[in-house]
Amino acid sequence: MLCLHVITDVVLVKKFLVLIAIVSGFVTASMPVSLGETPARTSIPSAISGDTAGKFSGPGKESPALRESTGLDPGAATQAWLDSVPQEKREKSDAYFEGGYWLLLWNYLLAAGISIFLLSSGISARLRDFSERLTRYKTLQITCYGVLYLLLVYVVSFPLNIYEHFFREHQYGLATQSFPAWFREQLIGLGVTLMGGTIFLIVLYAVFRRAPKTWWIWGTAVAVVFSFFVLFIAPVFIDPLFNTYKPLTKPEISEPILAMARANQIPVKQVFEVDASRQTTRVSANVSGILGTTRIALNDNLLNQCNVPEIRAVMAHEMGHYVLNHGAKLLTYLGIFVLIGFALTRILFDAAARRWGQKWGVRGIADPAGLPLLALIFSTLLFLATPFLNTVVRVTEREADAFGINTAREPDGMAKVALKLGAYRKLNPTPLEEFIFYDHPSGRARIRMAMDWKAANLSPGENSKYESQNPKQTGE
Ligand SMILES: [Zn+2]
Repeated sequence: MLCLHVITDVVLVKKFLVLIAIVSGFVTASMPVSLGETPARTSIPSAISGDTAGKFSGPGKESPALRESTGLDPGAATQAWLDSVPQEKREKSDAYFEGGYWLLLWNYLLAAGISIFLLSSGISARLRDFSERLTRYKTLQITCYGVLYLLLVYVVSFPLNIYEHFFREHQYGLATQSFPAWFREQLIGLGVTLMGGTIFLIVLYAVFRRAPKTWWIWGTAVAVVFSFFVLFIAPVFIDPLFNTYKPLTKPEISEPILAMARANQIPVKQVFEVDASRQTTRVSANVSGILGTTRIALNDNLLNQCNVPEIRAVMAHEMGHYVLNHGAKLLTYLGIFVLIGFALTRILFDAAARRWGQKWGVRGIADPAGLPLLALIFSTLLFLATPFLNTVVRVTEREADAFGINTAREPDGMAKVALKLGAYRKLNPTPLEEFIFYDHPSGRARIRMAMDWKAANLSPGENSKYESQNPKQTGE
């Protein structure tokens, strides 16, 4: 039996949806991905002595939530952590994150506008005619149409792209790249998208030609296989195009991480460091790969901005994704979502083609001139499904948090990391906001989980209430 051990950060599932979306002409608002200026530069303790559970994170003097002998009030402790963030910093990160809500809408409207324009102006039909004059082979026609279409969409949406991913990131102090360096990576990304996107379109249109009525079933299989490659092959082959991975040489950091990996049967022998500070100040890490390629990687921002308890808290979360098989589970959820989406797309595409097909010069599902229509329908469904997709991913992230806190046993470390992530993700949203827009639990939710854990895991000597009810050792 082939046993696949796969995991990457859950964010990759969104990357795949983004890729489908890009392929279908939908330029999604990708997630805000940077951590702001370091809230508190804490140095890494030089001597950390492996796993002595529960003893890592005594309430240091930075901790606003002091553990009292009468027990910890998780609600008050959570509030104390949140109150430790200066007002002006909070306002800045709230503004950044709330701006992202609007970008979702602008990106959708832009994508929809491009699709409608390509159809109603007849440009899509002319691109198809051009491809047909160029070659009589269907596969080459799709290749020609696909490359031109993807380039056209990229160019038209470039102004919003550059605002969102370059100027806005710098405006909030989240990016570290100069324009030439950023643009160079854009071109690499465009090259990867053109290759991957065109292959996807070639296979998808082969399905359309062979099964014009049941394509939505076979198309789902294609999308799942394709997403498997994007999710599990991409980290190994595509990430190195943008960043350098090298073995982490500091045993005082790698050893506590490898100890947690051994304790959870994760087959790795070394930890890698990735130079994410080239692009961003965001703190992150991942456990990725299949079979022999399983790899734990920490980004250098995590190493520079966090102490060992915080690093352990982050890595235990990532290991949670691996141990709980989140890669395989999310791939399954994704398949179900795509199946429903494609079924609805089929109905809507046929209805639209009957009504406007003549006018737009779209002959049917197998005609590449209809690609903007497919993109319009699928991106609309994706846009409407935003709260559902975010919730599926957020719930999975919460599972990894629960695994992480039990493995790392670092409630204060987890709280501090949650505050650092709060530099680009609003810390204290309303429940509705969290439901619609959050693909990770909010900072408040994460700190509350950490404080609940801390309150429930006080050692008996520190919990006088518990002690007074059980004054004697029973010895059972
Ligand atoms: Zn995660």
